[in-house]
Amino acid sequence: MNTPQENGGLRCGEVLADLSAYCDGELSGSRRAAIEAHVRACPDCARFGGAFAATLRALREQLSAPADVPADVAARLAAALRRSRTG
Ligand SMILES: [Zn+2]
Repeated sequence: MNTPQENGGLRCGEVLADLSAYCDGELSGSRRAAIEAHVRACPDCARFGGAFAATLRALREQLSAPADVPADVAARLAAALRRSRTG
């Protein structure tokens, strides 16, 4: 699954490492453009990025809601992110 690919001048690992910053809008315009170019050309990142963005959005909604955030959800997300960085 984690076949090294280079699209948009980035490898999959770089895209995944920047995914949360991307979702937060913390990246520069050129970095965003490079990530978008990669994701368009890379089905793996498109699939993972879409799932990640949906998870992040759901988590944010929970965080902004008065209900308690399950700590294990945040921990699992952090663990998945750490794993993806080594890929
Ligand atoms: Zn990729």
